[in-house]
Amino acid sequence: MKSLLLSIVLFISGLFAKDYSMEKPLIVTTISPYNHFIQRIVGEKYEVLCIIPQSKNPHLFEPTTKQMQKIAKATIWFSMGESFENQISPAIKRANPKIQMIDLCDDLDLIADSHHKKAQDRHVWLSPKILQKQLISITKILNKTFSDDEKRFEKNLTQIIAELKNLDAELTTMLSDLKNKAVLVTHPDFTYFCKDYELEQLPIEKFGNSPTGKLLQNYLNKIKTKNIKLIFHQPQYSDIGAKALSKQTKLPIIIIDPFSSDYTHNLLSFARSLKESYVTSP
Ligand SMILES: [Zn+2]
Repeated sequence: MKSLLLSIVLFISGLFAKDYSMEKPLIVTTISPYNHFIQRIVGEKYEVLCIIPQSKNPHLFEPTTKQMQKIAKATIWFSMGESFENQISPAIKRANPKIQMIDLCDDLDLIADSHHKKAQDRHVWLSPKILQKQLISITKILNKTFSDDEKRFEKNLTQIIAELKNLDAELTTMLSDLKNKAVLVTHPDFTYFCKDYELEQLPIEKFGNSPTGKLLQNYLNKIKTKNIKLIFHQPQYSDIGAKALSKQTKLPIIIIDPFSSDYTHNLLSFARSLKESYVTSP
């Protein structure tokens, strides 16, 4: 937190050292799945920058002064409402009053968030249905901003939407006949995925902390009563809870990266693990 404030001060004091060299138009995204899809829509004529490295926990991330200087050069910033975004956006806006800051969750019907003590659950990107809606809205904004490339953007979008529709159909088929609906994950990145496919997400973390004592016992009971066969862990978060549960239950820990840029393959392999574990379970 202290270092983020210092970065903001350094950023503001360096505002007048602008660089006017010829560069590609810059579009900024916060997490890598959006980066990947937006880059596919706009193509190589544009630079699409992802602020948070794929391996980092977005809720704890703090950008450097150098990153802020880069963000301030963007034409559009598609944001996710992470706390660092709220903290740096006034300084970015001051540096570049023309920047379009678009909240990707703006038009979505969000679920209340019990996990992060925030008003809304913004773990939306792993729902292929929501992602389609967002990409359509994103493309509308891109079309308005870079109208010369509208036809190309629309063509690329059509292809992506077709892929996501196929993925959604495949996931529906794979997950519809699961007898066991409970999914144990370290961090609740799968809220909307589970909602779409009628699964029950059980996040191991509580307010970003690993469970201990009574809470841990509570999970051990749930694993038994809900006949859970796998523990899913995301590498961006602490694995203390997942390891403690695995040690006591002997259940395997499966690593799943919620920020993988190989979106389709990642979700299919997640669904396959679920299906196989429950098909072979008694
Ligand atoms: Zn989260």
